Amino acid sequence: MNSYDVAVIGSGPGGYVAAIRCAQLGMKTAIIEKYSTLGGTCLNVGCIPSKALLDSSHHYEDAVKHFEEHGIEIPGDVKVNLEKMIARKQSVVDQTTGGIDFLMKKNKIDVYQGLGSFKDATHILISGKETTEIEAKNTIIATGSKPSNLPFIELDKERVITSTEALKLKEIPKHLIVIGGGVIGLELGQVYKRLGAEVSVVEYMDRIIPTMDAGLSKELNKVLKKQKFKINASHKVKSVERKGDEVIVKADNKKGVEVEFKGDYCLVSVGRRPYTDGLNAEVAGVKLNDRGQVEVNEHLQTSASNIYAIGDVIKGAMLAHKAEEEGVFVAETLAGQKPHIDYNLIPGVVYTWPEVAAVGKSEEELKDAGVDYKVGQFPMRALGRSRASMDLDGFVKILADKTTDEILGVHMVGARAADMIAEAVVAMEYRASAEDVSRMSHAHPTFTEAIKEAALAATDNRPLHI
Ligand code: FAD
Repeated sequence: MNSYDVAVIGSGPGGYVAAIRCAQLGMKTAIIEKYSTLGGTCLNVGCIPSKALLDSSHHYEDAVKHFEEHGIEIPGDVKVNLEKMIARKQSVVDQTTGGIDFLMKKNKIDVYQGLGSFKDATHILISGKETTEIEAKNTIIATGSKPSNLPFIELDKERVITSTEALKLKEIPKHLIVIGGGVIGLELGQVYKRLGAEVSVVEYMDRIIPTMDAGLSKELNKVLKKQKFKINASHKVKSVERKGDEVIVKADNKKGVEVEFKGDYCLVSVGRRPYTDGLNAEVAGVKLNDRGQVEVNEHLQTSASNIYAIGDVIKGAMLAHKAEEEGVFVAETLAGQKPHIDYNLIPGVVYTWPEVAAVGKSEEELKDAGVDYKVGQFPMRALGRSRASMDLDGFVKILADKTTDEILGVHMVGARAADMIAEAVVAMEYRASAEDVSRMSHAHPTFTEAIKEAALAATDNRPLHI
């Protein structure tokens, strides 16, 4: 039987990063993955394929709607070849997951393919083509999450689908009904909207992206409506019925009146649930909480002292970069180091266009905590860079402590917000004041000038270009 210092169960961004860091720190490491490719949800059916389709559909939309304004004329009609678009997405996925195979080899990490389940706290059975048993001094559970569902919805995975099927449709829906106005629903909704589908979003809460700052929700809602999305907030879905090629969704609006949506596809994107099926956690002494998450302490250690857990399977934001930070954190903890994660500084991003990004506290959170804060906001449309590319929607909003001027939250909607938020993370990591950022030179013309201007607005209301 092979023995390891560390076994990692699950090869998503949490698991494979944890394995690499363990190997870098000199630990003999194994990784166990039940699927034939490494990379987990993120690389196979999450972050990477969704961004590949967002990029392709964005090119198409530009060609159809914006090229002419730029003086680019295309003789004949611009057409979508969905099969080719999906095939390109798959080749991006294949290259990316292949890269993880390379990284495992490079770091001399043993890869086991099969379902990992605990025999006891130091032994894991791997059921693949044959059953193998390994011994591990320490184990990191990184088994991730799966799409969740509403109890009354039958997912047939043909017309009533999850994000996984939405990444490989064979036709462009005529009318896609998206249940859930969170990140995944809006991103995939935008892919098919750009390709020509009618898209209706049905959201239970009173606004889309309800976990983010309300100002971001409002701006994104406005922009998506301009893009002809039909957004129905405060609608409680009661039933989803498939009749041949038609899907009928019934919901109660906020007045309690039943509303019916008829489409040909329904994407159910109501969140994700932690995944521990088949893991046999209890025999190792690993406790789950009532939400099905693996319970961990501040060291990400489970109720079994040699077993840790990271990523979507534990509490906190379900994000790839959060899982990665936790992977490094556990590896370094096992090596006797004293790592640290500031969960307040894990950025959240929505990759619609315009993009939405945020880090730190929202206005709602600051109000609830009774913090005295000031706001500096700057619209993207006032930037030369925005006019040059005709990306005029959105703003950057900086929230700073009223007394000390320390930046407490940065919220933005706009072109390349996903990349720009990194500046806010760096500033907040070093506990910058709004004035610090306002005095740093930002290249002109760039979208990041909106961050400087918002910082100027937050300190004595002195933006220069508005
Ligand atoms: P996962 O990536 O879920 O990996 C877990 C792995 O464990 C899986 O491969 C699974 O097969 C394996 N496994 C489970 N049980 C066992 C077992 N018993 N034995 C062996 N293997 C097992 N996040 C972002 O930060 N940015 C994005 O842009 C983004 N886009 C997304 C888009 C979509 C459509 C979806 C669905 C998700 C997106 N996410 C995004 C979320 C992101 O994918 C997850 O937060 C991330 O993958 C979590 O990583 P993880 O390592 O915890 O688990």
